[in-house]
Amino acid sequence: MIIKFKEKAKPEEIALLRDVLQNQGFSIHESTGTLITLFGVIGDTSKFDPNSLYVYDFIETVLRVQEPYKQVNRKFHPEDTIINVKGVQIGGKNVVALAGPCAVESLEQMQSIAPLVKAAGAKILRAGAYKPRTSPYSFQGLGEKGLKILGQIGREYSLPVVSELMSIEDIPLFIENVDIIQIGARNMQNFSLLKEVGKLDKPVLLKRGMANTIEEWLMSAEYIFAGGNDKVILCDRGIRTFETSTRNTLDISSIPVLKKLSHLPVIVDPSHAAGRWEFIESMSRAAVAAGADGLIIEVHPDPEKALSDGQQSLKPERFSTLMQSCRLVAGAIGRTME
Ligand code: PEP
Ligand code: MN
Repeated sequence: MIIKFKEKAKPEEIALLRDVLQNQGFSIHESTGTLITLFGVIGDTSKFDPNSLYVYDFIETVLRVQEPYKQVNRKFHPEDTIINVKGVQIGGKNVVALAGPCAVESLEQMQSIAPLVKAAGAKILRAGAYKPRTSPYSFQGLGEKGLKILGQIGREYSLPVVSELMSIEDIPLFIENVDIIQIGARNMQNFSLLKEVGKLDKPVLLKRGMANTIEEWLMSAEYIFAGGNDKVILCDRGIRTFETSTRNTLDISSIPVLKKLSHLPVIVDPSHAAGRWEFIESMSRAAVAAGADGLIIEVHPDPEKALSDGQQSLKPERFSTLMQSCRLVAGAIGRTME
């Protein structure tokens, strides 16, 4: 249920209603705009009569929300959410690039790639240390050592870093070494993991599960919000379809759909969607044109020698070309890509 106050509602009237609702067992998610205050009422409102609230003359409207997700719903929070990661804003006018290798392989590899992606315009460095590989015999990532290398390189080049968390027990290491915690496609509905990251004060990059609907994805974001963490960035990385020419099918339509349904920033990972480096640039341009707030792209100093996902990793020069062409697209729709 959403309650919209009249423009002239006084702070004491807002406080009064907060008390009334909390005393009935509801929790309140408050959204204060420049003119209007909204309450998102969370709890079982099925037996509550919304009309009863019109007794107060400071209430404009009361409406029921049909969608099962509440706090991530745009109806609860009409303005776009902007997430600040060490001074980098995700969700504003500027389209942000996050780039780096699929996995941390060595200190030298990270030292060679970080300045190159930064020079091309990436604002955040990505690299996995715990890799969710299909085969147990494939490279699994450097684990703690890799996460520490990533943290160190991020500090050295003043780039915030993002890496994927797979287990609850590694959370302390992530708190110390990364600026954004990635929840990968395979863990989008790992509800225990979502509950734990919900308790943290760290941005979470929540990837779409490869066979999940947008509603299921928003419900996963809701889990993180329900724990108190409201810094969620959604990332589409393609979904499974009947098509086999690409690794996954990039669902470009998820961008405008999410923008309508939710206030959260939306970014796109064309690398895991396409699975082939040659398609990344055009898919990136399409994502920016469709309204994505950012791109997360795999870039490797030497893709032929990459320990994972070399076939979809861009060489640094190609990443730089991609950035230039995406900047033009961003400019064409009134955004920037600085
Ligand atoms: C990744 O970003 O390294 C990754 C494994 O992505 P996804 O979870 O989208 O497959
Ligand atoms: Mn990868």
